[in-house]
Amino acid sequence: MANKRKIGGEELFLKSELFWDIASKSEQNKAEKLAGEYKDFLDRAKTEKQTIARVSELARKNGLTVVDLNEKLPKGKTKMIFINRGKSAILVNLGKGDMAVGANFLIAHVDSPRMDLKVKPLYEDGEIAYFKPNYYGGIKKYHWPVTPLAMQGTVVLKNGQEIEINIGLKDDEPIFLISDLLPHLDNERNDKPLGKAIDAEELNIIVGTKPVADKKAKERVKLAVLEWLYKNYKIGEEELFTADIRFVPAHKTRDVGFDRGLIASYGQDDRVCVFATLKGFLEARNNRMSILYLVDKEETGSIGATGAESFFLENVINYLIRELKSEVGIYDFYRRSKAISADVTAAYDPDYKQAYDPNNVARLGHGVVIEKYVGYRGKSYTMEAEPFFIRAIINLFHKNKVVWQTGHLGKADSGGGGTIAGYLSNRNIEVVDMGVALLNMHSPYELSSKADIYSAYKGYKVFLEN
Ligand code: MN
Ligand code: MN
Repeated sequence: MANKRKIGGEELFLKSELFWDIASKSEQNKAEKLAGEYKDFLDRAKTEKQTIARVSELARKNGLTVVDLNEKLPKGKTKMIFINRGKSAILVNLGKGDMAVGANFLIAHVDSPRMDLKVKPLYEDGEIAYFKPNYYGGIKKYHWPVTPLAMQGTVVLKNGQEIEINIGLKDDEPIFLISDLLPHLDNERNDKPLGKAIDAEELNIIVGTKPVADKKAKERVKLAVLEWLYKNYKIGEEELFTADIRFVPAHKTRDVGFDRGLIASYGQDDRVCVFATLKGFLEARNNRMSILYLVDKEETGSIGATGAESFFLENVINYLIRELKSEVGIYDFYRRSKAISADVTAAYDPDYKQAYDPNNVARLGHGVVIEKYVGYRGKSYTMEAEPFFIRAIINLFHKNKVVWQTGHLGKADSGGGGTIAGYLSNRNIEVVDMGVALLNMHSPYELSSKADIYSAYKGYKVFLEN
């Protein structure tokens, strides 16, 4: 932020500027370099489980120990990661601080909108074998037909062994596809409103077309698919029922534009903040204890054992209090803690001006977005940052030259959204929402600016160090 009108050196206007105009050449180069690491991260983290697995791998490479809540804290360890069901994780750096003074938290979510499967997904119709999905999270249904899909899942076999099925991301692997009606025959649907044009039950994933040889068999194409699955993975319909199988867009992460300023990828909500918080967490030299909490199930309401409402956080904090022989009570620990809730927001899209309040929306390339509050209509379900806290954060960003901007989702009545900030705030932790602005948010191919990813990483890092 920089202002042009001053009285006695005091800035009067709140105006944001492009990172590319105000960041030093060396910072711009760092942003390019960070983007390379980010793209690699995205291509290995297409599901919530893959994201946690990759985070755990990077954490271990950076000296963190995986700690089991059922075992003693290994002696002398100050950096650790706790993993819950492979879908959520809490990373802790004890720093030099005492638990009694609280911690600095970052929280981000690892799940993204996708296609899950119904409980009995495999069927045959018109000599085509399909999987029937159940969409997960807030999607626009018209995005999903004719988008190449990859199957990414984990299955527990009868013997208790967990296996992975990952098909469709490598160039030599097949993809899966939901069909769409040709325009020649689509007059009736063309006249429907966008939200009603495609029914959820019309989103079915083509998985096979070759029958078994036996012409007397029933459902010959479905049977061929089952035979293939059994031969390759030892699974049948019972395992399709018990498994975690996700279909995600198979697009590779790519640079966008002649200047390569943007990154296109599936799953940037909220893996851009997962990456930026992780990077900041691993590099921060913090005195106070720092905690990075990566949660699942944000897109479906944050409930369940791996969501932000879970008592997993209490499991970990109580464990640390006990193992470190701290005198502090868990609620006092929360009360003395502060947090950044790191999630994405909408960037201004000039093609759809009508949806935004142009004076209040975030802009691509203007740095990390501080959102004072997020919610619906008359501030329903709003978590709002306290003035003293938000003031301290902005002072910190001025001092450390973090490029930042204000942001707000859209016009008050054009929709809205919630974030995971509330789940920490309800625990009486001081929280502010801060993240990266995206174009095409919740689509199969979201866009982010390299400038904003770098600014977010830097913002999270200086927060943990102060
Ligand atoms: Mn999000
Ligand atoms: Mn979302």
